[in-house]
Amino acid sequence: MSKTKYIFVTGGVSSSLGKGIISASLAKLLQSRGLDVTIQKLDPYINVDPGTLNPYEHGECYVTSDGAETDLDLGHYERFLNVETSQANNVTTGRIYQTVIEKERKGDFLGKTVQVIPHITDEIKRRIKLLGETNNYDVIITEIGGTVGDIESLPYIESVRQLRWELGKSNSLVIHLTLVPYLSAAKELKTKPTQHSVKTLMESGINADILVCRTEHDISDDIKNKLALFCNVDVDSVIQSKDASTIYDVPLMMEKEKLDKVVLKKLEISNYSSTNMNVWADFVNKLKSPKNTINIGLVGKYVELQDSYKSILESLVHAGSVNETKVNVHSIHSEHIDDEINEKILKLDGLIVAPGFGSRGIEGKIKSIKSARENNIPFFGICLGMQMAVIEFSRNVLNLKDSNSTEMDKNTSNPVISLMQDQKNITNMGGTMRLGSWDCELIENSRAMSIYNSKQIKERHRHRWELNNKYLDDLQDAGLKASGINSKTGLVEIVELPSNDWFIGVQFHPEYKSTVENPHPLFVSFVSACLKYNNSKK
Ligand code: GLN
Repeated sequence: MSKTKYIFVTGGVSSSLGKGIISASLAKLLQSRGLDVTIQKLDPYINVDPGTLNPYEHGECYVTSDGAETDLDLGHYERFLNVETSQANNVTTGRIYQTVIEKERKGDFLGKTVQVIPHITDEIKRRIKLLGETNNYDVIITEIGGTVGDIESLPYIESVRQLRWELGKSNSLVIHLTLVPYLSAAKELKTKPTQHSVKTLMESGINADILVCRTEHDISDDIKNKLALFCNVDVDSVIQSKDASTIYDVPLMMEKEKLDKVVLKKLEISNYSSTNMNVWADFVNKLKSPKNTINIGLVGKYVELQDSYKSILESLVHAGSVNETKVNVHSIHSEHIDDEINEKILKLDGLIVAPGFGSRGIEGKIKSIKSARENNIPFFGICLGMQMAVIEFSRNVLNLKDSNSTEMDKNTSNPVISLMQDQKNITNMGGTMRLGSWDCELIENSRAMSIYNSKQIKERHRHRWELNNKYLDDLQDAGLKASGINSKTGLVEIVELPSNDWFIGVQFHPEYKSTVENPHPLFVSFVSACLKYNNSKK
């Protein structure tokens, strides 16, 4: 197939309906039919990227191999498709305006007035088409962030309208994800909110081709007929998406609902094979019928929100399925670790200390790591979690009581975690950390090497501070070994404590690379160690 086909996914009625999951599920089904598919997210906010956003605002910031700080939906795309995304897969209003304004400053518009239409919409369209032109995909799914009717998403909706016109009917389609709420007082599913949001879309000149309806209850044929009639869609294009117990069920549910078949027919794609979702179904079966249960603690400061540590939680789901183990994750607020909470930590089967920024809650993190280290509880420190493990070890084993990171205390006399020279003069916060994929060489006979079963690895980073190599010999002599090093810079990427059964800290973010078809070895090994520890207590 030579020509790229475009699918646009819009959302109606409410946010948080799961456009990312529906997009990823459809992409997975099309991919399993042999098509080359990618997904792109357009975010209507004015930040250039979510790198400067607090996780409370927009959940986790997901980092791609090429070092882009992106929306967490890209994490779902990679986890579902097992294919890497890049900067081009996430576009924000900030980035669009930045490009247009830079062009204007260069004089590229030749004296014309620069306007939302056509200049902003042209730039949006260029970005949508760019992926198809540079990579020759069969299908590109473009998810429009926000909800139809939002003022800020209007230029995106207008761009979709123009593109549909330019591309032609069989080369593009619009899927509208909507909510069909159940009113318990009336004991009825209600279609009116969907009718209204489809109407709002039509006011912008777009007819939805397919409705995917989020619902708590089965949608009857009567309701499907009603939705089809009032929303101008074929009745087989009204697709039910009932609440699922896990997001990994959604591709299988969409397959049953024939979403992929309707899409193939409407886009007039004829060159495809039948779906093969066996590996996926096997993963879901194992996930749903675990043979064991473990309880682990996740220490962080954003524990109220599921989305803040999305990739870590999903990596644990993947590793749980491999180990046929249900992983119960207990969120532990790092600011509230008193003796009582510490007692609870001692009863857990494993502890993860999460990534993070700033000094809030770090003493709690250090306290929890001490408990894990002294009691041989499996411990996994990720990024800031690794840095805190180094500080804990320096304070309590090397006896350097005031050890710290210069991020938390600029004047500490023992900066065991410090800034690299090239980070010292940075004033712009956006996009200036050590980002994206970096090589790491594993040390012979280390636990890390036996877990990865390889000497050279690549992992993704997102941080400014590093282990200060001035302290490396002392740390190693006292038992905390560097087991992964970047050979070009000499930076320590992994530390481990061979005297404990499983105590590893990584400067990178392994969670960004775990997928259903390729669960991350560190998470798989960590869950297996927690299971062993749990069994040893019996
Ligand atoms: N704040 C630390 C740094 O910038 C850790 C960052 C992280 O955990 N992602 O180095």
